[in-house]
Amino acid sequence: MKIFKFGGASVKDAQGFKNVGQIIAQNCGQPLIIVVSALGKMTNKMETLLAAYFNNSVDKNSIFETIKKEHEQIVFNLFENVQSPVNQLIASIFEELYKKLQTQASENYDFEYDQIVSVGELLSSVILSEYLNSLKINNEWKDARRLIRTDNNYREGNVDWEKTSRKIGQQIVPLFEENKQQIIVTQGFIGGTNERFTTTLGREGSDFSAAIFGYATDAQSVTIWKDVEGLLNADPKRFSDTVKLSQIPYTEAIELAYYGASVIHPKTIQPLKKKNIPLYVKSFLHPQNAGSLIDTAKNCKNIPPCFICKPHQVLISLSLRDFSFISQDSIVELFATCSHYGFKINLMQNSALSFSICVDYKKNLEDLVTELQKKYFVKYNLNMELITIRYYHEAAIKKAVGNKKIILEQRNRTMAQFVVPE
Ligand code: ASP
Ligand code: MG
Repeated sequence: MKIFKFGGASVKDAQGFKNVGQIIAQNCGQPLIIVVSALGKMTNKMETLLAAYFNNSVDKNSIFETIKKEHEQIVFNLFENVQSPVNQLIASIFEELYKKLQTQASENYDFEYDQIVSVGELLSSVILSEYLNSLKINNEWKDARRLIRTDNNYREGNVDWEKTSRKIGQQIVPLFEENKQQIIVTQGFIGGTNERFTTTLGREGSDFSAAIFGYATDAQSVTIWKDVEGLLNADPKRFSDTVKLSQIPYTEAIELAYYGASVIHPKTIQPLKKKNIPLYVKSFLHPQNAGSLIDTAKNCKNIPPCFICKPHQVLISLSLRDFSFISQDSIVELFATCSHYGFKINLMQNSALSFSICVDYKKNLEDLVTELQKKYFVKYNLNMELITIRYYHEAAIKKAVGNKKIILEQRNRTMAQFVVPE
């Protein structure tokens, strides 16, 4: 069995759905699980709707209408047969959502987020499933909320692997045993709790969903269909002469994702690595091209320099108020403080008297700083960027850093990192 994941960019309009339909048509006749994200930038719009609902703003119903119209327009452009069941299915999802919007929101923002924002994936997956039906590509729509089991950590649900594997093993795998050409259409990004509440897996989490389905079914491969040719060595929006990475090991993909490469969701690789399931990243615009392959490859020699730029960083420099050395104990305490305030350390450097850390900017930075000031002299620089170059050489550094003033620099054999002003 294979898993195909189609992200929002692939289904941003009717033409997008047609293209996805073509890719599936070319690959049907074999067991497939299709994982789809919400339309284009729909999740952002759903977030706006959620905020309006939560704050009981007057815009609530008009945002709802805009979202509804966008889906209806796509359905109108996509389906020749106006009698398709899709209309009724979409209408009832919107009816439910409308009803929910008329109720008083609970005080739990993250909970409400998941109940509302998840609707984007329900809608797109229904449209895709019905569209495939209209092409006579038989498929079954499945509700991922009943398959991917998470805890109640809303907006970043933690997967219960055992229950999820069991559910998918019981509800999905037998369908493939009965029918070797079975196609399942389901949603990315969403799961459900024991109490049947909806959860989401974190923004851009559909890749992770595809990996979960791959893991639970021991899939032959997982393919993420994207609007780029595969994994690139840098963000093409920032660098002009990017090159595609044809094949890289799982471990390398994890490193790249860790430092902020946004091509695949960071949680995606681990479950696949555990079961040695190859991950392909391919272009939905040029499906015949090879794309990138992430697998057990051991050879990193042919990997070109890879550039990852992480914006909105804060560089915090600390020295103890009594001018004593920074000991292991104070580092342990410092890490605990960062973790307490939810700051992830992206880079650190220490000397006898000072310790520097680079963290993602968050609104509660002042709280962290106030806490640290109890023990340390604290200086910090806002609006920094962390540039990471794996497999660097001097020319690569020059290309990425240019004339920017380097505030902090760190190198080891495979990696060079620079903190520079944004
Ligand atoms: N629709 C969700 C998002 O935009 C999940 C995904 O696209 O991966 O974050
Ligand atoms: Mg997306």
